Amino acid sequence: MGSEEFERVREAFDTNWIAPLGPHVDGFEHDLQEYMGVAHAAALSSGTAAIHLALIILGVQRGDYVLCQSFTFSGSANPIAYLGATPVFIDSEPDSWNMCPDALERAILDLKSQGKRAKVVIPVHLYGMPARMTAITEVARRHDLYIVEDAAEALGSTLDGNPCGSFGDISILSFNGNKIITTSGGGALLSNRAEWVQKARFLSTQARDAAPHYQHSQIGYNYRMSNVCAAIGRGQMTVLNDRVEARRRNHAYYKRSLSDLPGLSFLPEPAGCFSNRWLTCVLIDPERSGDVTRETVRLVLDAQNIESRPLWKPMHMQPIFTDAPNYGDGTSERLFMNGLCLPSGSNLSETDLQRVVKQIKTAYSNHD
Ligand SMILES: *Cc1c(COP(=O)(O)O)cnc(C)c1O
Repeated sequence: MGSEEFERVREAFDTNWIAPLGPHVDGFEHDLQEYMGVAHAAALSSGTAAIHLALIILGVQRGDYVLCQSFTFSGSANPIAYLGATPVFIDSEPDSWNMCPDALERAILDLKSQGKRAKVVIPVHLYGMPARMTAITEVARRHDLYIVEDAAEALGSTLDGNPCGSFGDISILSFNGNKIITTSGGGALLSNRAEWVQKARFLSTQARDAAPHYQHSQIGYNYRMSNVCAAIGRGQMTVLNDRVEARRRNHAYYKRSLSDLPGLSFLPEPAGCFSNRWLTCVLIDPERSGDVTRETVRLVLDAQNIESRPLWKPMHMQPIFTDAPNYGDGTSERLFMNGLCLPSGSNLSETDLQRVVKQIKTAYSNHD
């Protein structure tokens, strides 16, 4: 947090707007619309809430099928279960680590052959790397599916010059504490369709009808962002591009320092992609690393009080989703087996990065 955030929070206190609504909420929504080039935005309490509302607005109901990238954080998939719908998981492809358009089409056709139809597909830009949206959109259009674009990890990333978070029929962002910018907790729903964003605002404030008393003819949610959180968000928007630069600097440093290690690789940016490099991840292939595994490296770092983490465990491997259908060739399972997220905070110093690199090299030399 910096002085911009503090100034705006002070303003919220000075004007006594400590409510779930207020001028900073409107201002933050405006900032998001400008940055993303999307006509409408609703600031909400979390990214998960945004996905939940997006699915409701697009008509997902009990018994429906929703296609979802398997290689993701559970926040992408849980809202499908909230609605009593069935998630159908789609594997990743190796170039972006995100949804494979061919596996998506295979899933759609297979469901069709069973007389089932999905309404919505949820692609994710994991770790900030843009998914193959052109091909995914083409498949979705051909089969009459809406796209809910999960850009929770990809604020500041672009694909062919367009921001991640501007591709979906509805797109969502997260401002949780671990994301590239944060409002302490928060999210947003974006769309060019005014009535959908209007509906999100309505549902997120307990679906109150226009009446002087409190009247409700639909089930609502308490999902709106508060004016204090939005104040932080407005300040954070002014440092977003610096944060992206810092994350990309981390990535460049790790890549420069570690690329010589056998069997260790990074995810390159495919043509047309610009990643915010939210987290720097490495893959360690034990067949080429002399038996060093991601777990060897993780434990050596951990012994030095340096936290690193395996990549997201795919949703189709999660105990909660074992019964859900899954379409893929094991790409996300391999990524999970061999992948490690390195320390990637925007405030890491060169000394911090040197320390991490030194320990990773130690993990390799211990193994010689
Ligand atoms: C963080 C995250 C979410 C959920 O956002 P919250 O604000 O934490 O609810 C959804 N999808 C992905 C890919 C995420 O990383």
